Amino acid sequence: MFTFTPAENYLDNKTILITGASDGIGKTTALTLARFGANLILLGRDQEKLEGVYDEIEAISPGKAVIHPMDFANASFEDYKTLASSLDEHFPQLDGLIHNAALLGARTPIEFYPEQEWDRLMQVNVNAPFYLTKVLLPALTRSDDARVLFISSSVGRQGRAHWGGYAVSKFALEGLMQTLADEVCNTTSIKINSLNPGGTRTAMRRAAYPAEDPSTQPAADELMPVYHYLFSAQGGHIHGQALNARDFDPSEFQAK
Ligand code: NAP
Repeated sequence: MFTFTPAENYLDNKTILITGASDGIGKTTALTLARFGANLILLGRDQEKLEGVYDEIEAISPGKAVIHPMDFANASFEDYKTLASSLDEHFPQLDGLIHNAALLGARTPIEFYPEQEWDRLMQVNVNAPFYLTKVLLPALTRSDDARVLFISSSVGRQGRAHWGGYAVSKFALEGLMQTLADEVCNTTSIKINSLNPGGTRTAMRRAAYPAEDPSTQPAADELMPVYHYLFSAQGGHIHGQALNARDFDPSEFQAK
């Protein structure tokens, strides 16, 4: 695993929104970035779980987090616009956006994939990141050094039998990342990448591999040096890339 020690409080005065912050990798990311000074906007569908994360952040750095319960499966574009306007009032600029929330969905051949589940998966894994990005781009543009990270998967880069809607949704996310990265590269300073965390000990991994011994997978904490790097000044040269946390090597990308 990649190692990197960021400067203390390198995220002071930075505001970062994380989706799916109530559990798994998203929760660990929120707690980790809070320890380094970030203001955090935590999105997730379960208010109680979000309040738990909020309380943990309050204990680390009081007054740094806000929560916005939102179920992406049912949210309309109007809900995203309302969210953006309410955030605008409190956070004039956004320095980071981490599209982390996702559903695993059925793992079954395409021929038998339930249509309604397909639609729900696309709503949560693809439409939500699109809507959120669209409404938050103005706030990201107001930052002079914003970062957007799409959390992807190995099956979003190489299709695999029975991974159905999940794999297809992650391919779509990669397409969104590449398209957006190409669009903003000459007009803004926003840096946009996707990151495949690789197998990580979470509820999603347990659901995907029920027979696996969870201790064989790294904990989400072990991914955090990669996140730190990508949100630090050092990571500012990486843009438009499909990254892997497991073999992350920033020297592959030319520093500007
Ligand atoms: P997880 O433990 O299942 O957490 C997923 C998060 O997304 C939770 O906070 C969940 O909320 C939220 N979420 C799910 N549906 C939502 C909805 N309808 N509206 C709003 N939020 C919703 O998953 P994870 O393993 O941490 O995965 C995080 C990211 O890494 C995902 O994008 C996943 O595809 C990717 N990934 C994970 C692995 C792995 O091995 N873990 C490998 C490759 C990629 P609740 O708390 O309410 O469930």
